[in-house]
Amino acid sequence: MSEDGLPPLRDVIAAHELRAKKALGQNFLLDLNLTRRIARSAGSLEDHEIVEVGPGPGGLTRALLMEGAKRVIAIERDRRCIEALQEIEKAYPGRLTIVEGDALEVDMAALVSGPARIVANLPYNVATVLLVGWLQSEPWPPWFDSLTLMFQKEVAERITAAPGAKSYGRLAVLAGWRTHAEKLFDVDRAAFTPPPKVTSSIVHLVPRNEPLAPANPKTLEKVVAAAFNQRRKMIRASLKTLGLDTGALIAEAGLNPQERAERLTIEEFCALARTFDAMKGA
Ligand code: SAM
Repeated sequence: MSEDGLPPLRDVIAAHELRAKKALGQNFLLDLNLTRRIARSAGSLEDHEIVEVGPGPGGLTRALLMEGAKRVIAIERDRRCIEALQEIEKAYPGRLTIVEGDALEVDMAALVSGPARIVANLPYNVATVLLVGWLQSEPWPPWFDSLTLMFQKEVAERITAAPGAKSYGRLAVLAGWRTHAEKLFDVDRAAFTPPPKVTSSIVHLVPRNEPLAPANPKTLEKVVAAAFNQRRKMIRASLKTLGLDTGALIAEAGLNPQERAERLTIEEFCALARTFDAMKGA
């Protein structure tokens, strides 16, 4: 038995025949000391409902409950994991809600009834789509107080990069615009069953009360995607795909047409987004 009175995760996986499926991004964490460290890095749990995406056999779910989470709402797509999760539900009456479904389609805001945090060891194939969706939540500040998420290390670096850095791009702009994003620690590939190809990292994001500068989230994403689509080019060339007078757009936004996307600050991207909307509306 483990400290929480439940069987070790290795036994749970064997009992429920949870052979990892690559298509579902399944790399499981079996060390409760590690999952408890991840749970603790989310901040206070006692007064929060935790939305967990992809609980799998429940390593992080159990850690969140052991660390005192008021309630965990776990969204899992793989039916095989549901029975294993129901055993955890029995051990923590009223504190675990299992939602069988695709996290990309679930209305997570509707599942919580008070202060909430998102904590997840994400399936790598949908991780950035989920993050961008959370970052585009409306209204802002959003329904969650923080996001504590596992990504491939290289993606974690792209989320937390500063302007001018090699990894600075769409994810850094979208994350930095509305949150304070910080890479907390790396997790070696050997900690997972089966081990993925690369190192992973935990990223903690806390929503800003006010975004760094005003902009429509969808427009900002569009402008940033165009600018970084050809990141080595000057913005007067890369922004042409936006389909309006690029020279006027850049001049109105007060920017240098010879600048490259990787050197623009988040505030400058917001100026481009606002100018784009103003020109479209004109
Ligand atoms: N949390 C577990 C852990 O740390 O050991 C499992 C993490 S594993 C990287 C990702 C989990 O997400 C798997 O259990 C997988 O079945 C689930 N998953 C994959 N795609 C999903 C989706 N679209 N919606 C909900 N869960 C998904």
